[in-house]
Order: sequence, then C-alpha cells, then structure tokens
Amino acid sequence: MTLAQELFDKASEYLPADRVSWVREAYLFAHEAHQGQLRKSGEPFIDHPLNTALYLAEMKLDSVALSAALLHDVLEDTDVGYDLLSDRFGEDVAKLVDGVTKLTRSEQENGIDEETLAVPHDARAASIRKMLMTMAEDVRVVLIKLADRLHNMRTLGSMKEDRRLAIARETLDIYAPLAHRLGIWEIKWILEDLAFQHLNPDAYKEISQLLATKRDERERYIERVVGLLKEELGADGVEAQVTGRAKHIYSIYLKGQKYSRANRSIDEINDLFALRIVVNDIQECYAALGTVHAKWRPLPGEFDDYIANPKDNLYQSLHTAVLCEGGAPVEIQIRTREMHHLAEFGIAAHWLYKEGDASDAKFEQKMIWLRQILDWQRDVSGAEEFIEGFKTDVFENQVFVYTPRGDLKELPAGATPLDFAYRVHTEVGHRCIGAKLNGKLVPLQHQLQNGDTVEIMTSKTVRGPSRDWLNDNLQYLQTASAKSKVRQWFNRQERKANIQTGKEVFAKEVRRLDTEIMESAVADLMSFDSIEDFFCALGSGAVTIGNVVSKLTATEVQEKVDVAAAEVTLPDPTPGIQVLGVGDLLTRMARCCNPIGGDKITGYITRGRGVTVHRQTCPNVLRESEIERLVPVDWGEAKTLYPVRIRLEGWDRVGLLRDVTSQVSDEGVNIAYCSTIPSEDSSVITLTVLVDSLDQLTKLFAKLEGVVGVMQVYRTTQ
Ligand code: MN
Repeated sequence: MTLAQELFDKASEYLPADRVSWVREAYLFAHEAHQGQLRKSGEPFIDHPLNTALYLAEMKLDSVALSAALLHDVLEDTDVGYDLLSDRFGEDVAKLVDGVTKLTRSEQENGIDEETLAVPHDARAASIRKMLMTMAEDVRVVLIKLADRLHNMRTLGSMKEDRRLAIARETLDIYAPLAHRLGIWEIKWILEDLAFQHLNPDAYKEISQLLATKRDERERYIERVVGLLKEELGADGVEAQVTGRAKHIYSIYLKGQKYSRANRSIDEINDLFALRIVVNDIQECYAALGTVHAKWRPLPGEFDDYIANPKDNLYQSLHTAVLCEGGAPVEIQIRTREMHHLAEFGIAAHWLYKEGDASDAKFEQKMIWLRQILDWQRDVSGAEEFIEGFKTDVFENQVFVYTPRGDLKELPAGATPLDFAYRVHTEVGHRCIGAKLNGKLVPLQHQLQNGDTVEIMTSKTVRGPSRDWLNDNLQYLQTASAKSKVRQWFNRQERKANIQTGKEVFAKEVRRLDTEIMESAVADLMSFDSIEDFFCALGSGAVTIGNVVSKLTATEVQEKVDVAAAEVTLPDPTPGIQVLGVGDLLTRMARCCNPIGGDKITGYITRGRGVTVHRQTCPNVLRESEIERLVPVDWGEAKTLYPVRIRLEGWDRVGLLRDVTSQVSDEGVNIAYCSTIPSEDSSVITLTVLVDSLDQLTKLFAKLEGVVGVMQVYRTTQ
C-alpha cells in the first residue's frame, strides 16, 4: 500500500468522505508541486509531507490540518505562492502553511554553539517565542511543526554530522519540551529517544542492550502480572484493558543519571516498564485502584490523583506504584479511554471528531492556559537569564505568580493578591479575606512580584466584596476584570433586592386598590424597558408607588364605582379644596365656622394637622395673633369625588373605629358609609369613602395602615 493510500484510509476512519477527498486534492497539488524533488535520503520529496500528515491523522486532526501538513513545504521549496494556496484551499489552510514556513525560516537562522553543541540561549528564546506567538494564533501550526520534526528526526541519518547534531540538540531543547507542555507524550518520548540516539550514541546503545538482554525475562513477567491483574479486576466486576509498556530509553537514561549520583548501577533499575489500566469511566478508575492496592502493597508517597486534580496541560490519570510479584516496584497508571486519548495526543485531542469547529468555549479556556505556558523553567534546562529575558522581553508588563499547587497565573504588573483571587475564580475573590505571599501574611493591596506564590484565604460563609475595593485611591485592585466583577456583584445584589422590594410594593398596592393592572402595561406607562427595570426603580425609591398611581387615570377608579355604589346612597359630588401656595398640604374644614363652597376663606396652619380652612369672618381667625400661620387659600378647581368601598381588618380594640375615621377625615376624605362587623377578637370595618383619585386612595391606605391594630386595608367591591 502506498503512503498516500495509507493516509486516506486513516483519515476515512474518522472524517466524512467529502473531507477526505479534500485532503486527497491537497495531496495531488503537493505531489505536483514537489514533482522531481528528492530528499537527502534519495526518496521522493512528497514522502516527507505524506509522513507528516500521517502522524497528524493518527492524532485524528481535522482535514484543514491534514491538508496544511501535506502542503507545508510548498511555500518554502516550490514556486507556489500564498495567494494560489489560499484560492485553492482556503484561507485557513494557507495561513497554517504560512505559519509553518515562518517557523522553519527562523529556525534555519539559528546555529548551535560549537563547543557545547547546544542551541544558544538567545536563539532558543527566539525560537520558543516565535512558537508561542504562532501557537497563540493557531496551535495546529505547532502540531504540524512537531509532526514535521518527528519525520525529519526519523530520517536524520542521511544528514551531515554537524547539521545532524544541531537538529538533534534543537529537538531535545525545544521540540520535546514543547510536546511535553502540549501534553503530547507520544511524540515527546519518540523525539527524545531519537535525539538521544544521535547526541549520546554510546549511552543509547548501552541502555538498549540492557533492555534487550532482559527482554524475554521482562516480557514473561509482564505477561504474568497482566494476567493476574485482569483476573482480579474481572472478579471485582471491572472491565479493563491492561497493558505493560517498556519505558523509553531517554527516561531510563535520566533515571540512570539519578542512580549513578546515588552510586547505584543502571542494572539495578528493575522498573523498566509500567503497567497501564484503561477502563470505561471514572468510577471504574477508583474501583481498579482499590483492586490493585488490595492485591499488592502500595509504595508510600507514590500515589497521585490527577483525576481529581488534573495537571495544567489537562492530563488526567491515577498514578500509583506497588511492590509487585517478586517484590519488584512497578508503576501503574489508571485512566479512562478518553483520558488515555488525551494523554497520548494532548491538545491535539481537541480536534477529535470536531471537524471544522475550533471555536467552542471549552477550547478557548484551554487556549488561555496555552498562552500562559511560560512555565519553561521546568522544561528548558537551566539558563536563568533566558527565562528572565524571555519574561521581560515578551511580557514585560506582566507578573507571573503561582498558586499553592504550582499553577502559573499571569497578571498585569502592579496586580494585588485580590486581583489574583479574582483571576483564580470570581467566587474566590468575593470570599477573599486575606492573603499569604510565600507563606507570609500580606495586605490585600500588596504588589505581586514575579515568582511569588500566592495563597488566598477565604471565608467559609458567602460574603460579598467590600465597597472599598472599588476605591481606586485605596489600590485594592489593578485589573479591570476584577473591578468589573466587584461592580457586577454590587449591582446584582442591589438590583436583586430592589426588584424584590419593588415587586412586593407593587403587588401589595395592586391588591389593595383592587385594580387589574398588567405588569407589562405598567412598565410601558412608566416608560421602562422592562418590568424588572421598573420594579428595580420602585424598590430603590427612584420611582414611588404614588408616581405610579397618579399616572393611572381617574377612569380606573370610576370603573369600580358602579358596583361599589350599588348599596349606598351617594351624596352629590362635592368640590374639593386646594390650598394655594402650599401645594398638597392636608386641608380640613374648620368646625367653628363650617365654610362651604363660595365662602371667602383663609387657611390656618395647625400644629401637625395640616391646614384648617376657616371663613375669613370667623372670630377665631380675626383673634389670631400669629399672623404668619394664616395662608391664602382658594376654592380649587372643582374635583369630582368618587365613592370607593374599602375594607379594614384589624384586632378589635376600644377606639379603633374612632381612630380610623379620624385618619380618613384628616386626609380630607369624606366617609359616605361605614359598618363594622366585630367577631371574637378581630374586627372588619367597611367604609365607603369619597376620593378624587387613586392617588388620594393610596395615601389614605398608607395612613390607615399606620393605625394601631389595623392589619390589612384593601379596596373591595362587596
Ligand atoms: Mn518539512
């Protein structure tokens, strides 16, 4: 089978037919473009892009990435230009190819240090920076680059020695750590072993011989252990795949380095393989762990739960090590199939079955992590100035701090522990009550420095942020995102509370007025966009229930009149009184002179009972010494009064009726009818009052509710 056919078959396993034919077209185009070119090894050039694409197909990458992989060298090595590529295969593919080409060009400018055979720090920094930048735009560029490098490493033998060593070194220094950071273990290990083979051929040979001599013995052992484990798991009802895998040569070499520092020989390394258990779901992972630990004694300190606490590159598994058969220590990984796929292909697993959809929110989350992968210290050996230069150069206005678990967070310079708390999680910010920096308590306004480990102390109970945090002069917060979260909290709290209050006030008033007002109509009437906005305004006091009621037309009242009036004889509508110059002050007719419409009148400001209206000729007025208490009043525009029946329910007590009626008359409202129905301990008072508007009725309700013993006041038609 040709390589091309192998690629199409592989792609057909997970891509729809039209996508596969698209990949086929890219192949034909690349084949044509590279026609006649040969690699150093003498193979046709097209084999290289084909192999590159094949690795990506194993990772189940989408058709765009596969096409770009097939075309990845045409811009660099043929006459084909960007525009042609873009026309034929679309912007996405062209951009990917362009990205790969640019990375390749920058790489070729790097030499290696003649003495140490290492890539100089600044060149390495430049390479990594370029990769990070490119990756932030589209991580597929780097995946193609890794696959490209993988094939180049496999065919390195035909290169000249210095070039060969330079590429191997670069692979170990840059590409393997990159694969590691992206969680693509499969590629990382292969790259490491391939590079190691060229860089340290003697050690490589020694270890592979060691592995070879004990191979039979080891394979028999693995077979036996796998068999035992399957049996036990089956007995416990766990359906699992159990495999034993040899460790990679470079990782054995690193382990051997450690052993030799401890004066032990590499022959003593007996954990040259690890066991892996793949199960269906998370529950089974823990069940399998139980089975393993029941069968063999776990080694203390070797258990890690990366399911509950995934690594920052999303890796999940349970890790343990046990004293296996014959007392040999064996590492065991337990994971689900999904976790296994992620562990092998890392970030690439995202494209699994996700043809053409790279924009979901979960993925965006992962990309945030990707942009923060400056935690190179662990991966790129030594070179502090490189790390420093890298930080200041690329992200000079940033500080990088750690969570207590060692996760890296990136914040703008000047950020505080409180900013950090909000970056970790909004809820952590809201509950933040203190902070420790590198183990020491610091004020929440403290400025974070590069490398600080920040521990946030939170309250157990739900509590909100402090108002002070929004005061810029107090410098609690530097980041706009944290500030807006605090602001949102307050808005939400207040709004929630205000809406609730407004709702209650309104419902109560509607009930009392016994009107049928549609909520939606009220929002409209009061010119609010939504009923929530209206309730919020009502609850906060920006709008009063009086404002609302006064907007309701008098016809609202009248509609109810007929029913209410049916049982009472109504007096003729009486004109109301308006006191000029004092607005809405309470007015009542003086009992001494009983002015009636048309009399010349004057107002007298009483202590606490509003204005009393007297005839101008009343002796009490003429005798009054405090002239300033007299105010001009006039019979106002005649207002039509409407009878409205209201009902009060309250605790029966002596004087209740008297207090109620006096409140009504204090309000300047006449009572046309009154009845009380006393029962054992409560009393129901029904009144027909003459009001000029709903507004007046609302005020009356408020007054009557203040009377001791009154529990409820409402309008009724019965
Ligand atoms: Mn290439």
